[in-house]
Amino acid sequence: LEYSSKLETQSRELEQIARKLREANAKLTALSVQKDAFLSQVSHELRTPMTSIRSFSEFLKEGGLDAQARSRYAGIIHEESIRLTRLLDDLLDLSVLENGQVVLNVQTARISDLLDRAVASAGLADGGLEVVRQSEGEGIYLKTDTDRLSQVFINLISNAQKYCVSDAPKLRINVSQSKGYVDIDFVDNGLGISPDDATVVFEKFVRLTDQASAGSAGLGLAISREIVHRLGGSLDYVPGQGGAAFRVHIPLTNV
Ligand code: ADP
Repeated sequence: LEYSSKLETQSRELEQIARKLREANAKLTALSVQKDAFLSQVSHELRTPMTSIRSFSEFLKEGGLDAQARSRYAGIIHEESIRLTRLLDDLLDLSVLENGQVVLNVQTARISDLLDRAVASAGLADGGLEVVRQSEGEGIYLKTDTDRLSQVFINLISNAQKYCVSDAPKLRINVSQSKGYVDIDFVDNGLGISPDDATVVFEKFVRLTDQASAGSAGLGLAISREIVHRLGGSLDYVPGQGGAAFRVHIPLTNV
């Protein structure tokens, strides 16, 4: 009797091991599918600027063009190579962030100073996006990787500018504190993002509008979310605000 109950236990254990192996195998298959999809997306993204560079440099090589055409083609090659470099930089950044290899450079700074810098770096054109900041929360000090956080701010501000369709584009930035965390809201008065798309926009290579020609690869929000996670917080879309609204929720101190 003892022997048979031992056998039963062993067979149950074997079953558990077999189930775990099956689960691990399913996970590996899913990861491999994801990796293939990612590689094919990357190749596709790289191919577009490469094709332009190749054909326009071929035209230049063949000669027989007037000065105006030559300068136009050289201009296209120049722009496309900048786009290619930006794409590679973004991909590298994302890969480093996703692999957890990022070393944080923690500094103390006031949110208002970070926002001032981000607004200046976003290079808003005159007469373009109006940025409205009036919250008292801006006086709060943060101890975090301020350069990385500024990168997120710049991305959200540039997006508000890029995707704001209103005649009088406006972005409100509001800062509020809650139990060791700070919420920084970026609310614009553009088209906004539908509830269905609101989770998808954080995925790699997702563009809802056809901005391919403007050199956008759909990596900005994916990178921003990875950064905010790395800083111990979250980046989410807040529905029902009229235009688009993004909330950065991060701890006051990251050590
Ligand atoms: P990119 O701007 O490079 O395309 P992002 O990851 O920053 O990539 O954004 C992904 C997509 O989300 C954009 O292509 C755009 O369609 C949408 N989006 C982002 N920000 C806004 C916004 N403020 N208003 C409307 N749509 C937006």
